[in-house]
Amino acid sequence: MTEKNNAHISTQLIHHGYTPPADFQAPQPGIFKASTVFFPNVAAMRQRDWKDKSAYTYGTHGTPSSFTLEERLCALEGGKHCVLTPSGLTALAVTSFAVLKTGDHILLPDNSYGPNKVLADGELAAFGISHTFYDAMNPQDLASKIKSNTQLVWLEAPGSVSMEFPDLIGLMKVCQAHRVLTALDNTWGAGLAFKPFDLLGDGSLSVDFTAHALTKYPSGGGDVLMGSVMTCNHALALKLKMTMSRLGICVGPNDIESILRSLPTISLRYAAQDQSARQLAQWWKGQKACVQVLHPAIDGSPGHAHWQALCAPQGGAGHAAGLFSVMLHPSLTQAQVDAFCDSLSLFKLGYSWGGPISLVVPYNIASMRSNWPSHLQQGHLVRFSTGFEDPQDLIHDLGKTVKQCLNFQAS
Ligand SMILES: *Cc1c(COP(=O)(O)O)cnc(C)c1O
Repeated sequence: MTEKNNAHISTQLIHHGYTPPADFQAPQPGIFKASTVFFPNVAAMRQRDWKDKSAYTYGTHGTPSSFTLEERLCALEGGKHCVLTPSGLTALAVTSFAVLKTGDHILLPDNSYGPNKVLADGELAAFGISHTFYDAMNPQDLASKIKSNTQLVWLEAPGSVSMEFPDLIGLMKVCQAHRVLTALDNTWGAGLAFKPFDLLGDGSLSVDFTAHALTKYPSGGGDVLMGSVMTCNHALALKLKMTMSRLGICVGPNDIESILRSLPTISLRYAAQDQSARQLAQWWKGQKACVQVLHPAIDGSPGHAHWQALCAPQGGAGHAAGLFSVMLHPSLTQAQVDAFCDSLSLFKLGYSWGGPISLVVPYNIASMRSNWPSHLQQGHLVRFSTGFEDPQDLIHDLGKTVKQCLNFQAS
């Protein structure tokens, strides 16, 4: 069921065309486990095509459970075909593997999710696929780096960790003019902040692929790893499925069950963490120890106008993930910043986001970028992901710990 109706995503994810077994109606769909599935006879065995979702052939090629989750994710992100992968990073890898071959070139934003750059430097380079990093905040830079053998452009909005929001529409228009495939890491937007398959709202501009770390918002529990790749193009979907099949990549039904259980609440959780993160980001604006707040929905953050155009096109509050960074004063020492992160009590030290517990990570941006981005102040970057704690309690924790660890005389 991917037919579009006018209901909101939150409604579509609950009132979804799943057919329960006869006389068994319950809030959650059944979970189906199989490596082997039976065929009624040899003729059926020979006839069934695993690429056709109307038929089951073997566990790696899909079960009623994986198909149900794939369809619901299509409703969430607005795609037509979806595959599930065992992590968000596998979703990125499978996308690249599906469309690239030796001799091809790809472009990655310099501020992209770090492991996607590491993959390009590792396996892709070893397979004879070259890459160049582009400045996501400068569509001209992207245009100047597209070569005759450029097969794929990766996109991400906002940038990883430094949270600057690119002119995604401008970047996409460059790719469209050069007829090059586009893949968006849609983990931050999650299908809720903007529509990657209809960026302008008139059907004229669409990415070719979205890759999504379901580990973050669709799970929401900090306890499941999964990813998805989605497209509206049947031929590209077939390429994805062939790559998945050749590599034997699939996900387990228990993990699918966890995501299906969390998905009906995704828009509520996303909105709650968004509100909370904005309160915290605003609080940081008033702190002497902080020289820059990096949250695309906060006025003055790099790319704020691009965020507004894409995620709040009608004005109003718009949508954003519950994630932001702050640049702490350069005259603080790294030891002070580390002590601050260590001393927070409600924020735990840990990677990822979208889970119930607030998280903090100090990052060394200089080591993650080709050059220090001109829109970033000098200083120590710390990233926060807001959980579901009361924001007043989180602000109290921050305030107490700033006093204790980041008390200094600003020069
Ligand atoms: C977390 C994340 C991934 C990778 O997801 P995993 O499930 O941790 O492999 C990819 N892209 C972005 C933007 C992420 O935040």
